[in-house]
Amino acid sequence: MNRRKTKTLYVGDVAVGGDAPISVQSMNTTDTRDVAATLLQLNQLKEAGCDISRLAVPDQEAADALPAILAASPLPLVADVHFDYRLAISAVKAGVQALRINPGNWRSRDGIIEVARLAKERGIPIRVGVNSGSLSRSVIDRFGGVTPEAMAFSALESAALLTEHGFTDICLSVKASDPLMMIEANRHLASQSDLPLHLGVTEAGTPYEGIIRSSVGIGALLASGIGDTIRVSLTADPVQEVKAGRAILKSLNLTNRGAILISCPTCGRTQVGLMALAERVERYLEGVRRPLKVAVMGCAVNGPGEARDADIGVAGGDGEYLLFSKGAIIGKVAETEVFERLVEEIERLNA
Ligand code: SF4
Repeated sequence: MNRRKTKTLYVGDVAVGGDAPISVQSMNTTDTRDVAATLLQLNQLKEAGCDISRLAVPDQEAADALPAILAASPLPLVADVHFDYRLAISAVKAGVQALRINPGNWRSRDGIIEVARLAKERGIPIRVGVNSGSLSRSVIDRFGGVTPEAMAFSALESAALLTEHGFTDICLSVKASDPLMMIEANRHLASQSDLPLHLGVTEAGTPYEGIIRSSVGIGALLASGIGDTIRVSLTADPVQEVKAGRAILKSLNLTNRGAILISCPTCGRTQVGLMALAERVERYLEGVRRPLKVAVMGCAVNGPGEARDADIGVAGGDGEYLLFSKGAIIGKVAETEVFERLVEEIERLNA
């Protein structure tokens, strides 16, 4: 797939856009004023494979907590500021690595300009993040409603205000809870700008629905080469957002981090307890950072062939499994020992 050409920005040491790997973002659910809880969650997010996290800065007390968080954060941080440009100024002065502003929620044009001047001085980027639910009245009236064109226009209009004042390190996002709306809005942006795009389906819901909707919206765009950084929004522990984001990238071969599990749905040929094994292997693979493909298949008739590209795999028989690699059988193992043997092989490949 041909990736859309975009400008490269840096959020701390994480490159976004250009040829940089597509990064996975999340947002803390902790109270930013609670430094210990925020740092604990940041470490959990980092462990799960998060590249960048965002913190809400709703008041001065939250802004005042930023220096202590930044001093120990394992991830570069984006401050999310609505309404009050003075909070954005405090966040930038505290040393955040990026800002996110929602133009629909900013009342002071002069405030945005002042924030941009300071962000430029400090060398940090700004994400102009438009949500379908918070478009300004004037944009809604101009487009006759909340439309993909209106969302793209709002993002570009705010970006233009920043560029007119000499600020160009801009990332754009246009998010909606409807994946089709978000896909269309991003396509409009992609055709009109070379700024990097942050993709997300907002208010996507609880994990089951939310991961599906996010995968459809984010996946459709990434598959057509659009998108530089992603966030899966879930009503859940943000660690799940990161795992889902990583899984989306893995499914499109857009990351070389983390193992992929291939497992069959089982059928009348299966004579082993495959589902329990697949779940156990999946949990084990969460800790594997190399881009391995591991297969857990229900039968030896079709399993090795269907998972031909797996680096290592097992295919069930009657009380035993065949061990295979790249479609070739390399051994046999009893069902009672299959997990340990598979782990042994994975560790060997992962060494
Ligand atoms: S790999 Fe074998 S057991 Fe699994 S679904 Fe295919 S035929 Fe059935």
